[in-house]
Amino acid sequence: MKSELAALEELQSLDLETLKLRNELKALPESIKQMREDVARMGELLERERQRLTEAETWKTEREKDLAQQNDLIGKSRAKLQGARNEKENKAAQREIDAIRKNIQDREEETLKILEAIEQYRVAILAHSKEFGELEEHLLESEKEVQARMTVLESSMGKTDSERKEIASRISSQVYRLYERIHKRLGVAVVSAVDGKCTGCHMEILAQRYNELIRGDVLHQCTNCFRILIYKGARSSIEPQSQVDSH
Ligand SMILES: [Zn+2]
Repeated sequence: MKSELAALEELQSLDLETLKLRNELKALPESIKQMREDVARMGELLERERQRLTEAETWKTEREKDLAQQNDLIGKSRAKLQGARNEKENKAAQREIDAIRKNIQDREEETLKILEAIEQYRVAILAHSKEFGELEEHLLESEKEVQARMTVLESSMGKTDSERKEIASRISSQVYRLYERIHKRLGVAVVSAVDGKCTGCHMEILAQRYNELIRGDVLHQCTNCFRILIYKGARSSIEPQSQVDSH
């Protein structure tokens, strides 16, 4: 029985180790999810800014064409003014010139504003391109690291598989089935009995059972949490963690 109890302890340690590996393996892709989202968000922002820049440049070209047209018109109106034959024609031509001048002034102001906006977009795009490049590079590095770590973890888990089979072969099938049942339900199936108590649930163990546990020649389960008890003079490393997932 003693060697079987020792094997149970080994099995428990190995299962806890495997659980840790499995949890880390599960958490790894999550760890770079946020980074991926940041890269995508920055990419979208850049895309919007580039689009706005294109729009502003198109607008600027249109305003410039418009300005050239207005300059053409003012030339024609000036010719009219020179050729005016009477006061009425003179005034009409002058009014036309004034109106066109006003148009030209408005368009020049607008063009100036567009030029300012274009400059701002260019500065923002430059800064965000740099930031995007850095984020992307950081993501690529992290992806490589995560991939490498996953390979290590997967290989470790492959090794524990064969180790587990070897340990299980030293345990009777009846006890193994019992272990598996508790392990699946509670995560930790084997706990230490210390100071007359089960370390899984802190329930007192009856003196007679405790004495049998000390002798180590019989398998006892805690009457409260049903975990398999192993006597430890001092506190052992196999104490259940608060929130251990089962599979
Ligand atoms: Zn217990």
